[in-house]
Amino acid sequence: MVGTATNGRMRQAFSVVNGVQDLGLSSNPTSNAGSECGTIEFTREDVEALLNEKMKYKNKYNYKERCENMLDYIKRLRLCIRWLQELEGDYAFEHEKLRNALELTAQRCAEMELNLQNKEEELNLIILELRRSFASLQEKLAKEESEKLAAVDSLTREKEARVNIERSHTSLSEDLGKAQEELQTANQRISSINDMYKLLQEYNSSLQHYNTKLQKDIDTAHENIKRGEKEKVAIVENLSTLRGQYKSLQEQLSSCRASQDEAMKQRDALVHEVACLRVELQQVRDDRDRQLSQVQALTADVVRYKELATSSEELEAKCLSQSNQIRTLSTQLASAESKLQMSDLSALEKRTEFEEQKNLISELRDRLEDAEFKLIEGEKLRKKLHNTILELKGNIRVFCRVRPLLPDDNSSGDGKLLSYPTSTEALGRAVDIMQNGQKHSFTFDRVFMPDASQEDVFVEISQLVQSALDGYKVCIFAYGQTGSGKTYTMMGKPGQPDQKGLIPRSLEQIFQTRQALKSQGWKYEMQVSMLEIYNETVRDLLSSNRDSSRMENGYATKQYAIKHDANGNTHVSDLTVVDVCSTKEVAFLLDRAAHSRSVGKTQMNEQSSRSHFVFTMRISGVNEGTEQQVQGVLNLIDLAGSERLSKSGSTGDRLKETQAINKSLSSLSDVIFSLAKKEDHVPFRNSKLTYLLQPCLGGDSKTLMFVNISPEPTSVGESLCSLRFAARVNACEIGTPRRHINNRPSDSRLSLG
Ligand code: ADP
Ligand code: MG
Repeated sequence: MVGTATNGRMRQAFSVVNGVQDLGLSSNPTSNAGSECGTIEFTREDVEALLNEKMKYKNKYNYKERCENMLDYIKRLRLCIRWLQELEGDYAFEHEKLRNALELTAQRCAEMELNLQNKEEELNLIILELRRSFASLQEKLAKEESEKLAAVDSLTREKEARVNIERSHTSLSEDLGKAQEELQTANQRISSINDMYKLLQEYNSSLQHYNTKLQKDIDTAHENIKRGEKEKVAIVENLSTLRGQYKSLQEQLSSCRASQDEAMKQRDALVHEVACLRVELQQVRDDRDRQLSQVQALTADVVRYKELATSSEELEAKCLSQSNQIRTLSTQLASAESKLQMSDLSALEKRTEFEEQKNLISELRDRLEDAEFKLIEGEKLRKKLHNTILELKGNIRVFCRVRPLLPDDNSSGDGKLLSYPTSTEALGRAVDIMQNGQKHSFTFDRVFMPDASQEDVFVEISQLVQSALDGYKVCIFAYGQTGSGKTYTMMGKPGQPDQKGLIPRSLEQIFQTRQALKSQGWKYEMQVSMLEIYNETVRDLLSSNRDSSRMENGYATKQYAIKHDANGNTHVSDLTVVDVCSTKEVAFLLDRAAHSRSVGKTQMNEQSSRSHFVFTMRISGVNEGTEQQVQGVLNLIDLAGSERLSKSGSTGDRLKETQAINKSLSSLSDVIFSLAKKEDHVPFRNSKLTYLLQPCLGGDSKTLMFVNISPEPTSVGESLCSLRFAARVNACEIGTPRRHINNRPSDSRLSLG
């Protein structure tokens, strides 16, 4: 306790212990010390010193001194004890205070504990609730995740379906177009035939109409005649009965007359007896009168009969006129029938004519088919001959193309820098270049003068492009200094469809031919990739996020490692390969590649002419009928500018870039020359470009190099370099192109290609 009391009380300790010696000894030091030394303080050391103090005496027997010293010591001890007691009191007080405080804090603690417990319970409740909601949320999340997965699945399926549908849609729409054209022509023919048929039918129906009218007329006339005849018969019957009556009446009359005569005779005879017989006479007269009235009636009858006879005559006349009418009607009917017959005849004629025309059409169609067949055969033969020529030549072909002078070109100096010999042998194949008054002559497989159009150039390579569809590996390079027209030759001028280059034209031809070969059972699948080799680094031009190929922490994230498999197929890891089935799709991809290239250009502050551009199309075809399979590759390459920049003393990045270009171009020439010399080791691996193209540069591929030349007088040195290189390449024989096909040997279809 003493040692730990390190407050202000200890400061005077030593001085007190040593200084109190002169404090006077009192009879009641204990009580005095309490009042006098109330403020005296001790340290532990002081107390210990006090307790350990040893009295030393000069004279052992000086008891007075010893007694004084002892008293002094006792006094000091008392002081010390009192201080300690005070200290104890203080401490007890403090202890009490602290205990109170402790109790208070304990209470507070208990309260706080209670509060905390309450809080804890509350929090536990909240935690429970939160756990529950967390569980429900997790459930929901899981559900949503599964839904999301399902949605993603369905999306991918939908995407696939959509792609399939689009493909089938394009092919169907092409089919539809063809079918619609055929339908149109057929419809036109049908409509013309229908028109003719309608005309004939109209004519026929009008004739029939006329005929029915005539028939109706005849019928009514016949009815009239019948009625007349019936009437006539009835009249005749009447007449005959009347005649019978008339006869009987006449007989009666004659008998009456006879009786009258008799009566007259009797009268004559009886005149004499008149008187007597007057009554009888009167009777006879009455009789006579009656008879007379009868006769009168009879004469009236006769008159009536006469009238009837006249009416019968009239009827006869009418009958006659009606039969006349019938006769004229039947003549009319006869003429109508003859007309009908004639029209029937003409219809028959038309029909036979129609049949003839039909026959003619089918005959023509047959001939057309024949001609088409012959055309296909001719095409096959031509392909075969073309391939035979290539095989006989067995070398890399070289085409030279000189671009026209552009408005921006420096055209000073005499314009006779380049000339084109016109002898029959050299026409279109030779070019002469003047340097320092000296003429250098070159001959190639083909020389395109400045006025040659893109179409003219394409016509010359279309066969080569065709070969890719037939299963060959085809490589077309454009070589030359920057600005000599390589990109123009390969891609053309953007936004000017008539000036599009070899790549778009080749693709159009491939898709057209694919459509044409469909009818022969061929199905093709095509894949496109586009890359750029810059400073010996491959860059994917179709990658959706180009930045991923950039360096990250000093390491390229995508390696683009080039590998060749046993079948001679090349794979570049991480490279975007796109399935295509229409020119439109490829045009879209070319646009994307051009965009990527230009992006690269601005980001790296470089020109596209400092990199090699490689367009690759893989073509695999299957003939379902013959089970043939072909695998072709078409590589179209726009090389980096060939000018020797190193001479101009470039430094830094520019120097590195130039070295890379020089290295890859000289690797290309090394490969070509060592292939030509048939060396065992061909240094394909010396550059990315040659390694990438290894399967397409070997002996069994078809290779063509365009050497592009600028006509500018300032470029004459470079032009000469390019022409010399091209001439050396042209002299190379690298082998025989071979077609990559799996087929039955007996099958002659397309195997000529
Ligand atoms: P390169 O790719 O070799 O550097 P370009 O293809 O870019 O050269 O051609 C340079 C310029 O010359 C371009 O403006 C291009 O349009 C033009 N050009 C090249 N060849 C021809 C040609 N045959 N007809 C018209 N213009 C051409
Ligand atoms: Mg270019």
